[in-house]
Amino acid sequence: MSAFKTLDDLGDDLGDVAGKVALVRVDLNLPMQDGVVTDETRIRAALPTINDLTAKGAKVLLLAHFGRPKGERNSQMSLSMVVGAVEKVLGKEVMFVPEIAGDVVAQAVGILKSGDVAILENTRFWKGEEKNDPELAKAIAANGDFYVNDAFSAAHRAHATTEGLAHVLPAYAGRSMQAELEALDKALGSPEKPVAALVGGAKVSSKLDVLTHLVKQVDHLMIGGGMANTFLAAKGVDVGKSLCEHDLVDTANAILAAADESGCTVHLPYEVVVSKEFAANPASLRTCNVHEVAADEMILDAGPLAVEALADALKTCRTLVWNGPLGAFEMEPFDAGTVALARTAAALTIEGTLTSVAGGGDTVAALNHAGVAKDFSYISTAGGAFLEWMEGKELPGVAALSA
Ligand code: ADP
Ligand code: MG
Repeated sequence: MSAFKTLDDLGDDLGDVAGKVALVRVDLNLPMQDGVVTDETRIRAALPTINDLTAKGAKVLLLAHFGRPKGERNSQMSLSMVVGAVEKVLGKEVMFVPEIAGDVVAQAVGILKSGDVAILENTRFWKGEEKNDPELAKAIAANGDFYVNDAFSAAHRAHATTEGLAHVLPAYAGRSMQAELEALDKALGSPEKPVAALVGGAKVSSKLDVLTHLVKQVDHLMIGGGMANTFLAAKGVDVGKSLCEHDLVDTANAILAAADESGCTVHLPYEVVVSKEFAANPASLRTCNVHEVAADEMILDAGPLAVEALADALKTCRTLVWNGPLGAFEMEPFDAGTVALARTAAALTIEGTLTSVAGGGDTVAALNHAGVAKDFSYISTAGGAFLEWMEGKELPGVAALSA
């Protein structure tokens, strides 16, 4: 692991940080439903860094993105919506600043006292964020004394607040970033074989690339969720109305061929839970073979027999890396597959035969829902960054801290 500075180095570098302004990149891309934060894991992950800095007397300006506003202001994606949830977890008042640079931020800094915390607006409202515009980084940096990156989950992106700021201010890894890198290195630096990777969820196109690399590194690739539908379609299965990216079937087939070549066993569900409506406990609920999905049905979970087959494969493995739920776990009974497999993985971990590492916003929420998050060897709050780390890619946000 490359060397990076942590909050322990602040004193040596900058002397007393009391009254100094910390620009802290955190992950506040929180799962929300009807304007209410449904899982606080990511806020809690930022607490050690925020508390460390406020205890040292710094003024803490939190930088984060929320959703994909594509470089424009969008009131539906304002970070003002998460202020209440952050205040609750932090146990103190938090100021909201509707800008990320300029006079408005400078005025806010003037009002904040040592140890106070403010949340700046969604960084992705500005086009320069995702373009990693050095001018934007400089403008943000003008209101701060040093930069802390505590958002491992965004470290696979070279954006102004995840990478650019590290080049214009003294830069440090936050506590969560530090813990994440240390734990992942410990769990997966040289994983015990056989290794299983379970990849599910909904972001098919963004995860296909990762699968291409994973098949060369793992012994078992378990594909679930919406991901599985694209692969089933590639194999000629009619997936009906299921979430499926039909234009990616060629890529899916190439991945299956690459897996074959590297001796990686690919597991796809052969039995599925389907429904005509995307709703909890629908009248049209049924379990069937993948070849029996009707044109007006959607696959929303792996069936119990398919999950049992995955559990059996898992029992032969020593390491599991998991990103993405097996089904639409937010709605009963489509949580059943994810919950059952999560409990098997947790039991094997407790028995000591399996090292289990899981990452991803929804994955963590699903494991919390199954009541087994605490039994996993390590839980990462990151999704994409977690997967790219697994691929062995250098994450730009981490590399910039080490430069
Ligand atoms: P993570 O946040 O852990 O990286 P994703 O965001 O990729 O995971 O995927 C989580 C989402 O995938 C959940 O909202 C879940 O409902 C959805 N999902 C899983 N399986 C299916 C399916 N078969 N059809 C539709 N959505 C699904
Ligand atoms: Mg997600």
